[in-house]
Amino acid sequence: MVNRHIHGIGMTSQRTRSRLVERLRQEGIHNEAVLAVVRDVPRHLFVDEALASRAYEDTALPIGHGQTISQPYIVARMTEVLLESGPLDKVLEIGTGSGYQAAVMAALAGTVFSVERIKPLLDQARQRFRELGFKNIRLKLDDGHPGWPANGPYDAIIATAAPEKVPADLLVQLADGGRMVIPIGPQGRQMLTLIQRNGDEFLQQPLEAVSFVPMIYGGR
Ligand code: SAH
Repeated sequence: MVNRHIHGIGMTSQRTRSRLVERLRQEGIHNEAVLAVVRDVPRHLFVDEALASRAYEDTALPIGHGQTISQPYIVARMTEVLLESGPLDKVLEIGTGSGYQAAVMAALAGTVFSVERIKPLLDQARQRFRELGFKNIRLKLDDGHPGWPANGPYDAIIATAAPEKVPADLLVQLADGGRMVIPIGPQGRQMLTLIQRNGDEFLQQPLEAVSFVPMIYGGR
């Protein structure tokens, strides 16, 4: 099954993937490890087969349930920013969605803990990780606002859905010296934000305007 997807179709060609990597380079992504992972992780397996031919375009794509798989540039940017603090042992993600961002992160970090509130998306992501052999991703079906305290503190926290303000529980679960990247604000006016923890201080820095789905309160 996996082989049919991976080898059967031309969109997985090295040339198509290299083109995406070159584009990310032009857009300012410079971390070679991140670029290599974007080239290697099969993004076409994280979208519906009908959209697979567009998987290596630098664009967000629908994944059902009103949600989207993030644009590769944004995935690369967020990952690169988090890696700047050094090696990452434990990473928390809010918003598993297709699982693509978690897979990219898992190729570069110790363990990724990811929380998603829509069960069919979580189940599908779990299946993909199994087929692709990712063993360092833990998943939980829940509202991600409270984080996942049992495994914290985290060296990095990545939110791929946008709250109107940073959930206080996530700040508390950030390790000293750790980094969080999170889109903040109402739809249409979100700012990708970097938060660095230094003891009890949280240094907040705007990165760029972005467009994410909202972080919704409650499970489903
Ligand atoms: N990282 C994903 C992006 C998915 S879009 C990927 O690479 O595909 C954002 C996801 O956040 C959606 O799946 C949405 O259901 C989820 N989400 C929204 N609010 C949430 C919340 N409060 N807790 C957990 N997940 C949430």
